[in-house]
Amino acid sequence: MAIEAVQLEIAEAIRNVGPICLASGSCCRFEAHGHRLYASGLEVARCVAICESEGRGITAEDVASALERGGCPWQDGRLCTARAGRPIGCRVYFCDPRAGEVVPRLAEQAHQRIRAIHDEHGIEYVYGEWRTMLRDVLGAEPDLVVGG
Ligand code: SF4
Repeated sequence: MAIEAVQLEIAEAIRNVGPICLASGSCCRFEAHGHRLYASGLEVARCVAICESEGRGITAEDVASALERGGCPWQDGRLCTARAGRPIGCRVYFCDPRAGEVVPRLAEQAHQRIRAIHDEHGIEYVYGEWRTMLRDVLGAEPDLVVGG
């Protein structure tokens, strides 16, 4: 799949930089750590569909709870339970300072590619804050939720 190809390239580029992840879970506690996760509509719909197929589907109520506690609906303690579906923003973010310079560049390149995938498939490009987008996608008709 096209998005998977972008993700594989990102993984390769990250491997070359070699940042350390201590699995602290900080990157998924947005409010506590003062950052925001953004994703495109296709990425959000893809994550929802993959997690649903793996038995880890979420509801609009799960998103509301996540918003209340300042995190992500797929965070379980310090771990992510949406590994296969998580968007580019989760794949490029590292607290290791060695990733500091390369991450914005990788993220920008990846999102240009994702935008092109939207265009290729004639899917309107919508990009926004993760939980807001999840809420929008979960409120959509089932046939708008695609596997990408
Ligand atoms: S999808 Fe996973 S990695 Fe991304 S914010 Fe949610 S729990 Fe964290």
